Amino acid sequence: MTRTDIKTVAVTGASSGIGEATARRLAADGHRVLLGARRTGRLERLVEEIGAAGGTATFRELDVTDAASMRAFVDTALSGYGRLDALVNNAGVMPLSPLEALRTDEWDRMIDVNVRGVLHGIAAALPAMRAQGGGHFVNIASVGAYEVSPTAAVYCATKFAVRAISEGLRQESAGDIRVTLVSPGVTESELAESISDPEARLAMKTYRAVALPASAIADAIAYAVSQPADVDVNEIVVRPAASA
Ligand code: NDP
Repeated sequence: MTRTDIKTVAVTGASSGIGEATARRLAADGHRVLLGARRTGRLERLVEEIGAAGGTATFRELDVTDAASMRAFVDTALSGYGRLDALVNNAGVMPLSPLEALRTDEWDRMIDVNVRGVLHGIAAALPAMRAQGGGHFVNIASVGAYEVSPTAAVYCATKFAVRAISEGLRQESAGDIRVTLVSPGVTESELAESISDPEARLAMKTYRAVALPASAIADAIAYAVSQPADVDVNEIVVRPAASA
């Protein structure tokens, strides 16, 4: 890899699952990674492991629901590495429940993390990417960005929103800003642990019996990130082969 192929990539939600696997993969590819999440103990350990394996990584506490926290996260990349080539908007929560259960606090949490979090990432990084002459947003949606299933109305709505925001950003900023939407099917992670509704929890156990390793999604993200500046990979959907 030449020096110009080495990128600075910030990953939100890097303390577990897909974000953690993405951090490991991008660092193994030679990129400099900045990791953000609320559980900083995990990030600290991950940064140590990446460093011990010869990679370059640092972390900062991040709550994506807080615009100022996201700005500070992006500023850490800019001050530490001098630029931010790509932001992986990965942080997400999935407390599924039927609408009639009226778990309105969980609806709010999904909207705050999954939608506002992505918007905060764009707001924080877009001006810096424009100023440096280019950048790349990799937004993590879901197969739920294309189809709705029972107990998942609000979660799917947030992922439909991520898809719409990504396409709008792509259209408006084509030229110097690349936008990739990565939509995983069922993937091994801690995502289902946020489900408090008993019915939805049980249904998810069966649904999640067949799952991809998180590294499969990290591979898709790494593919998009590694493309030359004139190639914009717009959408990638990755499902377990056994999924209907
Ligand atoms: P995990 O639960 O393992 O990871 C979620 C990550 O998001 C954690 O690192 C968590 O860190 C972070 N996070 C949650 N809330 C916040 C917050 N307010 N601020 C910062 N970080 C936050 O799940 P996955 O790895 O599966 O999820 C990653 C993405 O993939 C999500 O967007 C999810 O919707 C999507 N996805 C996952 C699928 C799957 O089957 N696993 C399928 C389709 C899409 P912390 O708690 O430390 O802050």
